[in-house]
Amino acid sequence: MNHQHARPGRPGRRQVLRGAAAAAGTASLWSLTGRPARADQAGADRVHPDQAAAVPGGLVAARQLGRFEVLALLDAHGPFPGTRQAAFPTAGAAHWRRARELDPAAFGPGETWELDFRCYAVRGPGGRVTLVDTGVGPAGSPASGWAPVPGRLPKVLAAAGIAPGDVTTVVLTHLHEDHYGWSVLPDGTPVFPNARYLVQRAEVAALAETRTAMTYVVAPLRRAGLLREVDGRLRLPGPGPACDVLTLLPTPGHTPGHQSLLVEGGGHRLVVTGDVLVHAVQLADPAVAYAYELDPELARRSREELLAEARRTRAVLATAHLNQPFVRLPGPPPGQGRG
Ligand SMILES: [Zn+2]
Repeated sequence: MNHQHARPGRPGRRQVLRGAAAAAGTASLWSLTGRPARADQAGADRVHPDQAAAVPGGLVAARQLGRFEVLALLDAHGPFPGTRQAAFPTAGAAHWRRARELDPAAFGPGETWELDFRCYAVRGPGGRVTLVDTGVGPAGSPASGWAPVPGRLPKVLAAAGIAPGDVTTVVLTHLHEDHYGWSVLPDGTPVFPNARYLVQRAEVAALAETRTAMTYVVAPLRRAGLLREVDGRLRLPGPGPACDVLTLLPTPGHTPGHQSLLVEGGGHRLVVTGDVLVHAVQLADPAVAYAYELDPELARRSREELLAEARRTRAVLATAHLNQPFVRLPGPPPGQGRG
């Protein structure tokens, strides 16, 4: 998502970036599954009934990958401030039809786009938690100009049995305001005091000193000594066996230093994508550009590569903005092998 967008009628914040003229291609046979992997059998319905009723899909869904438990945490849900066609200018009728099959909840009244704002937590051995993105934030956070604040992340983390002090790593996929909202409080106090916050150096380097992301989140985290700028692909240290690994994957284009997190556990793979794709129309055809990608061509390449690799390795996608927390891709067509 783009943090520069504004609600209609709110002046001064809009900075519309052009979309690419992506060629319409053949819709692929993607499928979605949002079924919580463990919620029913483990009695792990940790969702407060009132909160669960307020949003589709519940607030917490979980999947187990080896020694990692991946928790999808719904910070917020609401409409995008603008029409879906304006957000994806090159999408055609066939794309929309396929997208509606894949993620029907994204289609609100008229031309509206309904979307989740989701974070993920990866709980490893010993209760160590890696949090991926921190949502839209509290009332008054930078996303409040257009996103449905306040988010619920602190309550959702508590419902999942995670205290702020349990979080040892925060991965920021990128520095848009609907992804860093609960990193710090409005007064600059880090929300996760025991965590190192990992962001790509290229993401920070692209920010002017006066940008909100710099003043609101980067500067306070630096002052607190909690910011770690990293370069490129990086395997995160962890206590698990060698086959259970977390790896940062550079996926630039949406922003200059956008990154995703690959979770490998028990022989299975899951990718927390960030905003490599923001709507099912980009599963229908990865060449469909989102109008607010900073570098549309690079974003398309990152999206196509990530989806191809996920398909090849039968990885599950964990996205920020689709209305289901986990997206399963089918295997490769017969004859292509799985590599
Ligand atoms: Zn976003």
